[in-house]
Parts: sequence; C-alpha cells; structure tokens
Amino acid sequence: MTRTALFSPVEIVDGARERGIVLIGDHARNAVPDEYGNLGLPAAEFERHIAYDIGVEWVTRRLAALIGAPAVLAGFSRLLIDPNRGEDDPTLIRQLYDGTVITGNYPISAQERARRLDRFYRPYHDAVAAMTASVAAASGRAPFIISIHSFTPAMQGRRRPWHVGILWDSDDRAVKPVLEALRADPDLVVGDNEPYDGALRGDTMFRHAIVNGYAHLLIELRQDLIATEVGAARWAERLAPILDAVDRRDDIHQVKQFGSRTGPVSQGAST
Ligand SMILES: [Zn+2]
Repeated sequence: MTRTALFSPVEIVDGARERGIVLIGDHARNAVPDEYGNLGLPAAEFERHIAYDIGVEWVTRRLAALIGAPAVLAGFSRLLIDPNRGEDDPTLIRQLYDGTVITGNYPISAQERARRLDRFYRPYHDAVAAMTASVAAASGRAPFIISIHSFTPAMQGRRRPWHVGILWDSDDRAVKPVLEALRADPDLVVGDNEPYDGALRGDTMFRHAIVNGYAHLLIELRQDLIATEVGAARWAERLAPILDAVDRRDDIHQVKQFGSRTGPVSQGAST
C-alpha cells in the first residue's frame, strides 16, 4: 500500500474538458493514511480485491490518454470508506468483506464514521461534481460519464465467467451500443448487469449521472485480465474506440431523465 505524509482523497488526471467526457475510478487505489495503520489487517490484505479494484488505475489512465478526457480517481482504499455507496448504505464502511474481518472498522464510533465521510468520501464526491460541472461548462453540453471498476474472478466459491460486465440502472443510451460492440467479439463473455445489478441507490453513478440526467455506464473488468499493465493497456485500447463511437451518438450529450429502479430520482436524493 502507498503511504504519504500529505494524503489526498482524490487525484485528477488531466484531459481536455471540452471533450465532454468524464472518467471515474472509485476504487482505483488501496492507500490509507499513516495513522490508520493497516486497519488492523496484514499488509497482504491490501493487495486483494477487498482493498481496491486491481488494474483499474492503469485502465483509467490509459483510457484517459487514448480518449483525451480527464479522469477522477479516489485516492483511498474502499476499506476505509467506500465512495461507491450512498452515505446511508450499510456497506459504506465494511466490517467484514469476503471472509476478512476489518479490525480497524469494528467497532466504529459515530465520530470516526463522520470523520471518514468528511476527510475522504465527501472531498472525493465534491471533486467528481466539480469535474462534471467543469466538463459541462467547457464542452457546452451534458457530459458522458464512464466509470471503471474491476471484479474478482471468484466470489464466495462461485466462479464468474464474464470477461467484462456493463452495469446500469435505467438509462440505456450508452449501455446498449457498448454491449452490442463487445458482443461482436465471439471470444468475449459479456455480462449485462453481471456480476452485479448496477441499480444502487446513492452510488457514484446515481449521484453524479442519474440525478443530473447524464448518459453514463459502469464498466466492470475481470481482475485477472487487467492485473498487469500490459493487460490493462490492451483493455483500454479495446474500449477506447467503442466509447469514442458511442460518444458521437446523437443522444449521448443531452440531459434526459430515465428514472431509477431504486425509487424516485430528485436532486439531493442520494444522501
Ligand atoms: Zn469497484
């Protein structure tokens, strides 16, 4: 894991804001500031999927360079607090994850929970909101938001056959053409809302895309395929032309409300 004296909850990867695209890496990093130690865990746990999305930082940086768009990466491990959850989600600060008890999170005081929201979670979401607003202003149209995640090849003894999954709630503008393009390759096993259902109230896509009516999608890549920089670059190169083609579709840069399968959507509904 990475430790620095000055810990930043967010990193911005520069790119042309007038391009109208924002890349997001919620789980790109496994870092925790010094005073949290290893949250009571052996250091090796921080190399596992429970601490971060393996390979995502490489894929996101390469995609940002290929597409020429900015990216926002969370600078902290999801074991500290998970930025891709609503503030009231019970898995916001996990005490048990895939067989590992997170000692440093159990028990957790209301004060410590509030501290992590203020120090990590909220600055990150403020940065995503600021970037989205800045891209909207620079491009003069609704931004297209692309979130990159990765998933572990096996969870609770169950193997996951997909190479890539597209997660979504109700807005299919970007989802349908991307699924179609990926499925054109007969060697790929492509998941539609696999390995998870993408409708999650208060998550990053809900807060920054769905509430605003911005076209978006969440791409889940299987971790073993992007666990090396070469593998990650290969996936970024596969995805870039597909996303570029979708970006040029008529309806992508328009504000359009599709609602949510999780309930009514309104500004501020996420918290
Ligand atoms: Zn993730």
